[in-house]
Order: sequence, then structure tokens, then C-alpha cells
Amino acid sequence: MGNQRPARKKPRHTGRPWGRLRARVIAEETHCALCGKPVNKTLKFPHKRSPTVDLRVPLSLGGSQRDRTNLRLAHFDCNASRGNGTRNRRRRGFTTTRRW
Ligand SMILES: [Zn+2]
Repeated sequence: MGNQRPARKKPRHTGRPWGRLRARVIAEETHCALCGKPVNKTLKFPHKRSPTVDLRVPLSLGGSQRDRTNLRLAHFDCNASRGNGTRNRRRRGFTTTRRW
């Protein structure tokens, strides 16, 4: 019997035109567009301060990944905390400090 394992598709973000443009943005820009601080480009992806490319206009709003003017440099964590338009809305532990 064939021992077939399901072919898992890994999402790859490299090797596409987007990857190149991304690299270009990272090469051309030096500061994070979100916090304004310099980005250390020697840091690699899983690192929180590694360089990422942020879209000024997100894809969901019709922005393009291929438009250089729509792209800007950002820290990974700055970009992540910005999310897809969702602001840091963390639930604060329910404060039930009612004083009677
Ligand atoms: Zn930043």
C-alpha cells in the first residue's frame, strides 16, 4: 500500500516579484515608517525588530504590493502591532473594582 502523506502547501513569500520589490524597499529605506526609528537590517525575520515592508494602503483596501510608492519600511513588531487596521484593542482584564 502506498504510504501517501498529504502534500502540504507551504506559503512561500520568496522568489516572486513581490519578494524583489520588498528587498528593494528594505535596501532603499533606512527608518521604520511606523515608529520613525532606524531599522537594523542585519536582523532576520523571526526577530521582532527585523525589517519588513508595510503597505500604506492595505490589499484589502485596494492597495498594491507591486507599487513601490505603496510600500514602506517597518519593523516587524511595529507592523504586526498595527495589524490589519485593528488597533491595539486588547481586552484589559475585566476591572470590577466597584467600590460600594
Ligand atoms: Zn518601528
